[in-house]
Amino acid sequence: MNKTLSINAGSSSLKFQLYEMPEEKVMAKGLIERIGFTNSEVTIKHLQSGKEKNFSKITEIESHEGAVELLIKLFSQLGIITDFNDIRGIGHRVAQGGELFPDSVEITEEVIEQIESLSALAPLHNPPQAQVIRTFHEMLPDTLMAAVFDTSFHSTLPPESYLYSIPYEYYDTYRVRKYGFHGTSHRYVAQQAAKMMKQPIEDLKIITCHLGNGASVTAVEGGRSVDTSMGFTPLAGLTMGTRSGDVDASIIPFLMDKLAIEDVNDMVSILNSKSGILGVSGISSDMRDVEAAAEAGDQRAGLALNIFIRRVQQYIGSYISTMNGVDAIVFTAGIGENAPNIRQSIIDGISWFGAELDEVKNDTRKEAVISTDDALVTVLNIPTNEEIEIAREVERLAGKVSSIS
Ligand code: ADP
Repeated sequence: MNKTLSINAGSSSLKFQLYEMPEEKVMAKGLIERIGFTNSEVTIKHLQSGKEKNFSKITEIESHEGAVELLIKLFSQLGIITDFNDIRGIGHRVAQGGELFPDSVEITEEVIEQIESLSALAPLHNPPQAQVIRTFHEMLPDTLMAAVFDTSFHSTLPPESYLYSIPYEYYDTYRVRKYGFHGTSHRYVAQQAAKMMKQPIEDLKIITCHLGNGASVTAVEGGRSVDTSMGFTPLAGLTMGTRSGDVDASIIPFLMDKLAIEDVNDMVSILNSKSGILGVSGISSDMRDVEAAAEAGDQRAGLALNIFIRRVQQYIGSYISTMNGVDAIVFTAGIGENAPNIRQSIIDGISWFGAELDEVKNDTRKEAVISTDDALVTVLNIPTNEEIEIAREVERLAGKVSSIS
């Protein structure tokens, strides 16, 4: 009973990592892509007698249910899990826990139904995640399973951070409020930053910048999220790969009228999938393409990059005032971890607050302090690891369950 499985299901994908705990050693990891499309692809890396083995296969996988069935079959066939009793628990990432789940929770039939009931707040994520959980639950009914929510870390937001300035009854009746997302990543990197700084997290004010395809910034005071840039849905906040981030809501009826769009969902879909870096640059949602185009002199690519950078700076500035100070700024996720130039541009623009990068230290993709020794604010690059955070949550819950039983 020393293995823990982390599962991260997306709208058309399923990622997993299998750990030996408590050493946190990765025994296997893999990805199923293009679920529900033609040519679904399975790739798995695993350790066998200390040697790394690779498996890949193109096949047809019509549903998330089919993906789970295939995965469990492959675990046995490839000798990754010979006895499912070795699994101490399975942790599932769930996008939206609403106000129902301020913490990770052991999965029961009732929990699965509650996750399904929150689908209106996360239509692309909660339904496939609930389906994956249900299939695992049916196939391995005796295995402890935990749901780990993207929103839980933000359950500590005070009302002045989570309420919108709209009639209060919309919160009371419909639970319209800021939920925030990427919580597992923000929590992991904030805790890691405190460890690296050798200071108790309770004494620190940290701003975590998760800059990937989806992107968000969080103010973490004393280890608790006190504000975050995503909102009621992941559409709010920063400029993202294809998402607009914050816009004036009046743009919506104005453009619907100009573009003769009748269904408001079509307009929201433009804000979700045709906007952001892609929409401004007209080139790509991928920051690497946009950086290359900007370097080659493409003006709109340069503009998209500058808007992205400006908005990260604005959120950092705003959260410095929310916490009345900052000890550390953390960069993580695809862009945050891998783009030293972008980190440099962001920090150069907020040097007034006492942040300064060391050019040599910043030239890294690994976990490191990247600020100068005498900077007032410590800046860190910390590759995120949501999977390990999920596995740790399983361990924590398994500990609680065994102490009760
Ligand atoms: P997701 O939100 O899909 O998990 P990731 O965290 O993987 O996204 O981040 C994807 C983003 O990271 C893409 O915009 C990609 O271009 C960007 N990225 C990855 N490597 C680099 C790099 N070397 N330089 C700039 N951007 C990068």
